This record gives sequence, C-alpha cells and structure tokens, in this order.
Amino acid sequence: MRLGILGGGQLGRMLALAGYPLGLAFRFLDPSPEACAGQVGELVAGDYLDGEALARFAEGLDLVTYEFENVPVEAAQRLAERLPVFPPPKALEIAQDRLAEKAFMQSLGVPTPPFRKVDTLEELREGLEALGLPALLKARRGGYDGKGQALVRSREEAERAFAQLGGKGLILEGFVPFDRELSMLAVRGLRGEVAFYPLVENRHRGGILRLSLAPAPGLSPRLQEKAVGYARRALEALGYVGVLALELFQVGEELLFNEMAPRVHNSGHWTIEGAETSQFENHLRALLGLPLGSTAPRGYSAMANLIGVEPDFAQVLALPGAHLHWYGKGVRPGRKVGHITLRRDTWEDLAQDLPHLLALAQALEPV
Ligand code: AMP
Repeated sequence: MRLGILGGGQLGRMLALAGYPLGLAFRFLDPSPEACAGQVGELVAGDYLDGEALARFAEGLDLVTYEFENVPVEAAQRLAERLPVFPPPKALEIAQDRLAEKAFMQSLGVPTPPFRKVDTLEELREGLEALGLPALLKARRGGYDGKGQALVRSREEAERAFAQLGGKGLILEGFVPFDRELSMLAVRGLRGEVAFYPLVENRHRGGILRLSLAPAPGLSPRLQEKAVGYARRALEALGYVGVLALELFQVGEELLFNEMAPRVHNSGHWTIEGAETSQFENHLRALLGLPLGSTAPRGYSAMANLIGVEPDFAQVLALPGAHLHWYGKGVRPGRKVGHITLRRDTWEDLAQDLPHLLALAQALEPV
C-alpha cells in the first residue's frame, strides 16, 4: 500500500515512521523541497493546486490523507474524485474556518465560548455589545499558533484590531477565564468503530504549545466522559475516518470547544511512547480499515516541544524515561524542530523531573 500525505512537515514524518512496521510506503506533497518528511519518504515538491504536481503525487497511490489543515480544500476534493481521501474533505473545510467549526459544534449541542461573526464595523459594535469585554477578535481563516488574533479590552482597541485584521472575515469571541486548556484525541475507523485517548493538559506560551501532560493531572472520569461524548458527536456527524483533535477549555467541571484539527496533533505526540498505540499508528489503522489499537496510557507522560532550540542530545538521553524526536528541520526562532517525551510509571515521579525536562527543552521560564 502506498499512502499519499498532503503536507510534508513533522506530522507527516511521524506518520511515515509509524507506518513502516505495517509495510506501508509514503509519498508527500508539499510546496517546499526542504519539507522534513522528504527525509523519510518520497517528496513531490509543488503547489497544492498545481495540476501537474497533483497528478504526479496521485499516480499509483491507494489513498490520501493530510497532516496540515490549511491544505486548500479544493486539492482534497480534486483528489477525492479519483482516490479515497480521509478524513473527509468536509472536515477539512469546517476546521479551516473558526466560525464554521464553532457553529458546527454548537449545532451538535457542544458548548463553545459565545461568538459572533464580524464582517463590518457595525457587526463588531453589536458583537461587543452582546459579548462584553474583554473579548478576542480573530481571523476566521489561516491563523495558527496564536497568529491572526487580538485580545481586546476596549472598544477603541477592538476597532484598531478590526482594521489590522483586515476588517472582514473575522470572529469575535467572549474571553473565557479558563482553568486550563485540554485536548481530546479521538479516532474513528472505516467501519465506524471509535477510540479515545485520555484528555491531555496543554500549556502554551506566545501562542505555541510548549508542554503537554498526559493523562491531564487530576482528570476525573466525568470530565473524560464529557469530552468523549463531544468527540463522538463530531466523529459521527462528519462520517469521520482517522484521528480528530479537539481543543477545549476547562472551566470548573465544564468543557468549552475552542477548535478542531482534522489530523494527528502536537498534543498527541506523547502517545508514541506514552500510550499502547500511538496516534500516528491509529490514524493509519483507521484509514486502512484495520482494527484500532488500544488508547490506554502507559503510565504518565510529559511532552515538551523544542522551539527554535537544539538541545544536547546526550544530556536528554541521559535522563531515564526521556525520548528525543528530532525532525531534521533547520533551527529558526519560534519553529518547532523536535520534542522530548518523558514517560514515568507514576505521576509523582514524572512531576519530580518536570523542571529537568523543561530545562533540557530550554523552556526555562515557567510554562
Ligand atoms: P486559537 O488559535 O483560537 O486556539 O487561540 C490561541 C490561544 O488563545 C488558545 O490556546 C487560548 O490560550 C487563547 N484563547 C483563544 N480563544 C480564547 C477565548 N475565547 N478565551 C480565552 N482565551 C482564548
């Protein structure tokens, strides 16, 4: 079997590394000839909408998936005319639009922060009136890692942000004073079978994920059940196949949906060593119609991203239970170039070595 992956970043690279034991071969399509997945599989360097590149990419493939959610939906739709494409392009389309994804989840009865569409100054004013301050004004499309959004504390600030963000195609959200950020990684197979990983706690800085703790410390069965219920509704409504990530805010015992990613997710990297079956392998199993693997955690894991820094590999590997993943990318400020997962049998053991992990990842300020 030869799988095509739209996008050639680290998620594609880790999908391929999980697929080799299953005898799979991989081809990537990415605009950059330097894309790091090209080191572990065949890379077609070309634009996602370039007909010739798409044809070279599609030649001889058995199915197509994606590792990047800002792939043009049209590329996925064109490929879907000749090949199975999973997850369904409809999920890609919804996930690319912050308004559409919130409206979709709300239609399924999943709580979200209060939100309003903003395409005019009039709508901004009405939105501020309805939601109050502070609020977040975000571009509906294209923003990632905290880019394309502004926290606004006054009407003047909101109007300035409105102009800076282009004055249309925006969403205004009520500010949620959340206790913590969580994510749910869910998977649905070709025959509709489902599996769910334990909720993960995520800590960001500068809009970028720094640290994931899995399972989320102090996770109650009720909270897990709630998240499973929300993810199950989304998977079923979309006729989904593959891994789906939901980002959630915890407020007391409530969960509010923030956004979704129709792909494997950074907050699931811990599953490589920290779960019975990794998110990458389960994504592939789902696409291929193979039985899903157990999502049970193996002890407790912390995953620290390496953001624009190259650690001393020997120092990382000297820490018992630490696993280094280096993506083979050039080191640039703010760029995710690798991650370290620290796995331990008990939460107490893990907590004790968290400062050491953060020091190794050079994430020295508290996260
Ligand atoms: P997003 O790109 O929409 O996931 O937003 C990036 C980060 O901004 C999130 O991870 C949160 O830390 C924060 N954020 C986003 N939306 C809200 C909100 N409605 N209330 C409070 N914080 C938010």
